[in-house]
Amino acid sequence: METPVATPPTNLLGLPRPELEAFVGALGNKPFRARQLMGWLYKRGEGRFDAMTDLARDFRAQLAECAEVRTPQIMRETTSADGTRKWLLSAGVAQAFEMVFIPEADRGTLCISSQVGCALDCAFCSTAQQGFNRNLTTAEIVGQVWLANRELGVDEQGHRRVTNVVLMGMGEPLANFRNVVPAIRILLDDLGFDISRRRVTLSTSGLVPQIYRLAAEVNCALAVSLHAPDDALRDELVPINRRHPIAELLEACWHYIDEQNGRSITFEYVMLDGVNDQPAHARELVKLLRGRPAKLNLIPFNPFPGTRFRRSPMAVIARFRDELIQGGVMATIRRTRGDDIDAACGQLAGQVNDRVRVRLGDKLAAAMAS
Ligand code: SAH
Repeated sequence: METPVATPPTNLLGLPRPELEAFVGALGNKPFRARQLMGWLYKRGEGRFDAMTDLARDFRAQLAECAEVRTPQIMRETTSADGTRKWLLSAGVAQAFEMVFIPEADRGTLCISSQVGCALDCAFCSTAQQGFNRNLTTAEIVGQVWLANRELGVDEQGHRRVTNVVLMGMGEPLANFRNVVPAIRILLDDLGFDISRRRVTLSTSGLVPQIYRLAAEVNCALAVSLHAPDDALRDELVPINRRHPIAELLEACWHYIDEQNGRSITFEYVMLDGVNDQPAHARELVKLLRGRPAKLNLIPFNPFPGTRFRRSPMAVIARFRDELIQGGVMATIRRTRGDDIDAACGQLAGQVNDRVRVRLGDKLAAAMAS
């Protein structure tokens, strides 16, 4: 007789509503059971089946046997002097990624990761330095939001602290399209986290074909890492530009807005001293973006060990912004948060694998280094 192969339990955090209904259906239950289950999972943040008291006992027993609610495990948590919190999360043996919560007076923004490492190799980003390890699964992406809600609890009015989610952590979300899109569906679903589409933002370095696909598949806000007004400079800073140059990228952006009935695209622009921060750059940006549904978000460069770049002086950044505004382009300066704990943009997890290596001992370290 053959030994039956044990199927691993299905992590329910990876299933958008139709898939959860199919899963529940395959167990012989009515689709409305999936809705009840989502209420427990996402409205009440409950992950223990035996606590889901209005589910039939048999159904709970079935779930306990073949399903689970599993978030990434916390390896370390750090809190910044400004209240920003960062979690180092495990992605299995010797792999880790990060998630950051940024509290503000009127909202709480959770910055989540979509990949362990990144393959895009942007010149000024510390995640790029560690290379690409793997895609996060849908359950690992959704699991970050679920975990943050559990860790952060509710405010004085009983509201969840995470009001906004940005896919601006480690990784290029559009390079993990297959897992990211279902995760966004769960964030937006009114039976899921029920976050409004203007409060879920995907940030991309500019994978043009996937921007078109995204426009057709989900409805969320889009941020695009522009960082340079011309192809010669952008080729250097954001190498994907060599494949999808600025004109093509902007066309995809305007298509996205048309398709989505969106308000505008946020263009991120990291301010690198003497590289892309001159008044002439601002004037070129005005030519590209004036009259378009675009906002520029100027990000003071956040340094990390070994980088050849420096942050533009604040006065230069302010002048750059003024130049843009005078030219008729909306522009703001992103306030740096959490840099004392390496939680600011572009600083995530550069040192993680080294720390993991130390913990795992020499043998594994040697294996990983080879
Ligand atoms: N891969 C996606 C999302 C992750 S990065 C993207 O490229 O958009 C989120 C933002 O931080 C991007 O705009 C990125 O260019 C920016 N960033 C990367 N490194 C940075 C650094 N060292 N200082 C400031 N911003 C940085």
